[in-house]
Amino acid sequence: MMPEISQMNLEQLVEAIRTCSRCALHSGRVNAVPGEGPTHATVMFIGEGPGFHEDRQGRPFVGSAGQFLEELLASIGLRREQVYITNVVKCRPPGNRDPLPNELQACKPYLDRQIELICPRVIVTLGRYSMARYFPGHSISRIHGQARQVGGVVVVPMLHPAAALHQPQWKATIEADFKKLPAIIAQAERLNPPEQPPSPQQLSLF
Ligand code: URA
Repeated sequence: MMPEISQMNLEQLVEAIRTCSRCALHSGRVNAVPGEGPTHATVMFIGEGPGFHEDRQGRPFVGSAGQFLEELLASIGLRREQVYITNVVKCRPPGNRDPLPNELQACKPYLDRQIELICPRVIVTLGRYSMARYFPGHSISRIHGQARQVGGVVVVPMLHPAAALHQPQWKATIEADFKKLPAIIAQAERLNPPEQPPSPQQLSLF
């Protein structure tokens, strides 16, 4: 029998997400998208939810927003394999509509457990829905790019790459916010030193 979500290991969590029926989104999916990256990634990116291509492939950020995210990562010397990438909802909302409150709620225990297990030093929220997890009631246009310590982790809210991609002003904003990340990550590692010995991926971050 599968344990409670809060007791699962990462492998069990992935399996539970792939077979989940906790909300209506499961009925329209081709694939659930649990997320991917190193087990103890220093940095975790949390987007909104899978789009068309993510649903087809079962992987996060593989469409045009993903390509832009990879460019943004490359601009600070990172590859996507070095960070953990996931979403607040793991199944594609129909027509890429915004996730509904009950869908966010149904999926929340998965993200809670992923964060607990991966234990990143820095969480970058992409867009309003993942920002709201840490800064409810705030406006992304006011707080984007500002790192704040929340419990044992540093959280940096950023614009969603899909939204920023086609608007020159927002594109410049997210590019500038990404440039702040190396210093934020270095400081977060000093403030909250890893409990586990660093993996080779972590050591080669910058
Ligand atoms: N947009 C998201 O928020 N997440 C994805 O995985 C892809 C696009």
